[in-house]
Amino acid sequence: MKIAVIGTGYVGLVTGTCLAETGNNVICVDINEDKVTMMKSGQLPIYEPGLDVLFHRNIDQGRLKFTNNLAEAISGAQIIFLALPTPPGGDGSADLSYVLGAARDIALLIQDYKVIVTKSTVPVGTADKVKDVFKANLSKDIFTEGQNLGDWVDIVSNPEFLREGVAVEDFMKPDRIVIGTLSERAKRLMTELYTPYVRQGNPIIYMDERSSELTKYAANSFLATKISFMNEIANLCEVVGADVDAVRRGIGSDERIGKRFLFPGIGYGGSCFPKDVQALALSSLQVNYDFRILNSVMEVNDLQKLVLVEKIKKYYNNNLKGKKFAIWGVAFKPETDDIREAPSLYIIDELLKQEALISVFDPEAMENVKRQIGDSIIYESDQYAVLENADALIIATEWSLFRNPDFEKVKGLLKSKVIFDGRNLYDLQKMIEEGFYYNSIGRKIIDNES
Ligand code: NAD
Repeated sequence: MKIAVIGTGYVGLVTGTCLAETGNNVICVDINEDKVTMMKSGQLPIYEPGLDVLFHRNIDQGRLKFTNNLAEAISGAQIIFLALPTPPGGDGSADLSYVLGAARDIALLIQDYKVIVTKSTVPVGTADKVKDVFKANLSKDIFTEGQNLGDWVDIVSNPEFLREGVAVEDFMKPDRIVIGTLSERAKRLMTELYTPYVRQGNPIIYMDERSSELTKYAANSFLATKISFMNEIANLCEVVGADVDAVRRGIGSDERIGKRFLFPGIGYGGSCFPKDVQALALSSLQVNYDFRILNSVMEVNDLQKLVLVEKIKKYYNNNLKGKKFAIWGVAFKPETDDIREAPSLYIIDELLKQEALISVFDPEAMENVKRQIGDSIIYESDQYAVLENADALIIATEWSLFRNPDFEKVKGLLKSKVIFDGRNLYDLQKMIEEGFYYNSIGRKIIDNES
């Protein structure tokens, strides 16, 4: 099939590349000219494990192309994916200007039937808004009074559930594919496109557009709720002297609860959960529904992002001036270079306000951090170099290479043997043996100094 993908961010580029992998001819379009130039010359603009192999193979075999010319991208395409940003607008609800703007630009160009697929995360009712944009902007030569919009265009909601860090795997073998449309014609085309990805029997779930749009927000909000719930349990563990690891194992073995997503930490971040939970809460309010749980989920998360800073302040009697902290990990989670809404950035910001000195190391996200916060902190290209003369180590992202470090080296480089771990990477007994002061989330503080 001939496919166009509008927007080549984490979702669009993975979608385009993975659709080319099953034999489709894909043209990806982006308004960012630097990005398009990079991709045309065979360079990936993002870090995503496994993407490079598929990206190069499909470019080499001529199935994956890039352009900044929308007309070129959509001419001949049967299906057009919108993988555009939906950031929080001024009031926190999803800003649909990218999606509706692109819909208008496409409407002005099309000359034959197309399926328009919204892959961006969009509030309930967006498909109807996109339809209105097409009705208002299709050329009067092809779309005349009394004609059926469906003769020219079908609007499909197809939310994306991929996770950054395992995006390729998630796209190639999705748990499920949700297709929101009542058009049989669009349904047939979408089914044909996606069948290669569900050969192991995972379902394609068909529904109306509104249910499909809400499914994505419901999924992300549920997962965020699970995280905030576990963070509250962890905080309570610290107060009552319980161990969150034990509690986690104790509840996770109940199939109704499940083992995944039960790890406490320093709050959820990234480009999706924070904005999607907020957008669902706000869009509910707009229809006079107060989604009470979500307000608590957000409140808990805001506090949790600074839980490590509170521990640090307490340890240093509220005097962080001139203290040097080494931070391992800035990306909002491992295996990505994405730092959007990363909890680490909130920690850095707060420590800088307290006049502390900060040096950081992240295996993939350093360039993005430099772009965002510049030279207010020190960047090191090595996980050990960053420790030199630091008063303490802070762990903010659970990259694999931090899991089993050379503790002798760590002790030799740090000024004091102090670790604040926001990801619970180390065994408490090991920390006792290594002689660290070790403060993690929802577990006993190991205080070898006292
Ligand atoms: P992104 O910011 O990484 O990428 C968006 C891209 O669109 C950018 O390259 C930008 O230059 C381009 N763009 C903007 N306007 C354009 C236009 N008019 N024409 C062509 N290109 C244009 O965004 P993302 O993380 O890929 O997210 C896209 C959507 O998918 C969002 O709605 C997001 O909520 C949703 N989503 C994201 C993830 C994720 O893990 N990142 C997962 C599921 C769903």
